[in-house]
Amino acid sequence: MTETMSVDSDAGAESRDSSLAAAIDVCDPAPLLMSLVHVTGDLGLLDEFGARLTIGEPGNHYRTGTRPAVPPGQYPADVVADIRARAHELLTPDMVDRLGVPDRETFLHMAKVATSERVDEEFVPILLEQAGFVLGERCVPVTVTPPTDFSVIVIGAGIVGVNAAIKLGDAGFTYRVFESRDEIGGTWSRNTYPGAAVDTPSHYYSYSFELNPDWSKYYPSGTEYQRYLKGVVDTYGIAENISFRTRVLSACWLDDQHVWEVTTESADGSREVHRAKAVVTALGMLNSPNIPDVEGLDSFGGTVVHTADWDEDLDLTGKRVIVLGTGCTSVQVVASIVDKVKALDVVVRSPHWIVPEKSVVNDVPDGEKWALAHIPRYHEWFRLRSYWFASDNLYTLPRIDPEWAKTHFSASPANEMVLETARNYLQASFADRPDLIEKLTPDFRPYGKRIVKDPGFFKALTREHVTLHRASFERVTTDGVITTEGRFVPADVIILATGFELEFTTSIDISGRDGRTLADLWKNGDDPRAYLGIQVSGFPNLFVTAGPNSAPNHGAGHNILSEEHVHYIIECLQYLLENGHDAMDVRQDVLDEYNRKVDEALDKTVWVHPGTNVNGYYRNSQGRAVVPCPWRLVDYWTLLREPNPDAFDFIDPTVERIEG
Ligand code: NAP
Repeated sequence: MTETMSVDSDAGAESRDSSLAAAIDVCDPAPLLMSLVHVTGDLGLLDEFGARLTIGEPGNHYRTGTRPAVPPGQYPADVVADIRARAHELLTPDMVDRLGVPDRETFLHMAKVATSERVDEEFVPILLEQAGFVLGERCVPVTVTPPTDFSVIVIGAGIVGVNAAIKLGDAGFTYRVFESRDEIGGTWSRNTYPGAAVDTPSHYYSYSFELNPDWSKYYPSGTEYQRYLKGVVDTYGIAENISFRTRVLSACWLDDQHVWEVTTESADGSREVHRAKAVVTALGMLNSPNIPDVEGLDSFGGTVVHTADWDEDLDLTGKRVIVLGTGCTSVQVVASIVDKVKALDVVVRSPHWIVPEKSVVNDVPDGEKWALAHIPRYHEWFRLRSYWFASDNLYTLPRIDPEWAKTHFSASPANEMVLETARNYLQASFADRPDLIEKLTPDFRPYGKRIVKDPGFFKALTREHVTLHRASFERVTTDGVITTEGRFVPADVIILATGFELEFTTSIDISGRDGRTLADLWKNGDDPRAYLGIQVSGFPNLFVTAGPNSAPNHGAGHNILSEEHVHYIIECLQYLLENGHDAMDVRQDVLDEYNRKVDEALDKTVWVHPGTNVNGYYRNSQGRAVVPCPWRLVDYWTLLREPNPDAFDFIDPTVERIEG
């Protein structure tokens, strides 16, 4: 028995040894070097290797418009070889983290070497949190435990709602989540079209407090992402606080009682009224499918399907398929179905700028997964780099340099670099198809609409059975489509990859202090304005997550918004408790001033600049950009650390309530 055990454990140790060796050979050398520092506690490694790196200004190549010889963050080959050699020498299967969470000075030094860029002090708190080194730290002092009657209703169980549930629970608040669907996942429960995938890197597009070393791809499929979210729900045991198949119909603030009255409807049509001190909407903004108003669409004899309402039983094998649209969704669908269908016609009204991104479809090698799971702090540094290179380094990309823009199609030297990348990719993909290059060249500046990362769209367009039409639908007949070019395209299936009608919580009847509805105030969602993208005057204790001008459209992903918004909400609620208030209502003058600054900052971007003639869901009917957040990620994150009491009118408990 003893002998068998020893043989087994020998085998275990051997396999761990060989897994470690294999991981060292394939994993990313920069986080590996940081792990060496953690495991040995030897800060001298930073000086030794740092001296062999060129430490650049962050995003400098974007500012100057010059491509660096070595891409940012990539170490020279001799440095990589030496790091791997040292790792083979210093790492052992029983390695532990001796350094722990580094102090600020050490962390800055490490971050600089890890990114080979200058990292300023102001980034330390956001990087420590976003990399997963520290869990969101509370700012408002916590001396009062939330009473049970100070409850919170969360609407929606996607990436924000699940996070809100976890953090409200952690902070001791009584809460309930209402979700109209029968499962969690929000966007990733709804969008199940072929090829549905996240276009933000997996190891970053996840909660910083729930790192997942097992992502199978560098960009996860929608299904894998939803599986991750479900796992998080299980880990935190919050499913019992979520009411599925329950739609929120209305939320009404009762000004005399300082509570929200929320009416829900279950799948069987039964209605219930609930009361809560605060309401958090976690609905996202892209829920309502945009169905084009085209003559004859209803009379089509085949199948019409919008990507957000995908029919799992729809078999496209051997079918003639038309795809309308050319955004992130369309390119994923086209790349995914091209091998299955008999004929594929892609109808493009206005092309987007598309860039190559090899790792969009790449699997994560086993060695990388092993390193993420087992090498101390490797995951945190891997994630830090993933965030760093897709965050405020990209801040300049959508911003107009007025002098440059006078004489260039692009907006700035940085914007020019993206333009060049996209144009080169077009040229290289269709060297012998000038017709496709012409049809696929957008007439607006890069970043005017979301940049699309190619999962295989361009390659699909070169296939013999695929035709691209730079057109729209003129009319749909019983057996096909007549395009605006006057061509008839026969079809069995029409896939509408036409995106969404922007919705800012207007699907719910939300009424505030004076009975006015949010939909009215926001002109049915066309002109939404909120303080910090979250709070609206006259709607006390209403927190609109992913509200107007809060989306990180220059970099990062919806995950950072989820974390910073939820953090801010908990801070606001705790502030109320600590100070004996019932509710907070943002002052109108503060909201107006905040929005004046938002508009001023947006004026200098490709999203609204008069010279950038671009449609798309970022802008409202008046051309105002209502989706993008104009601030650097670090600035917006800092603004959301805790509420500024001067921005609010507070509502205190009535005498009756205190006596009761
Ligand atoms: P989208 O970016 O709004 O693109 C919709 C496409 O449909 C555009 O090409 C648009 O053309 C076209 N279109 C709309 N109405 C049309 C009409 N009546 N006739 C002809 N063409 C029409 O929508 P999406 O691709 O679904 O993406 C929406 C957002 O969802 C993305 O920006 C992204 O934020 C998110 N998304 C994310 C992922 C992810 O990986 N995380 C994946 C998919 C989607 P025009 O440009 O001419 O209007």
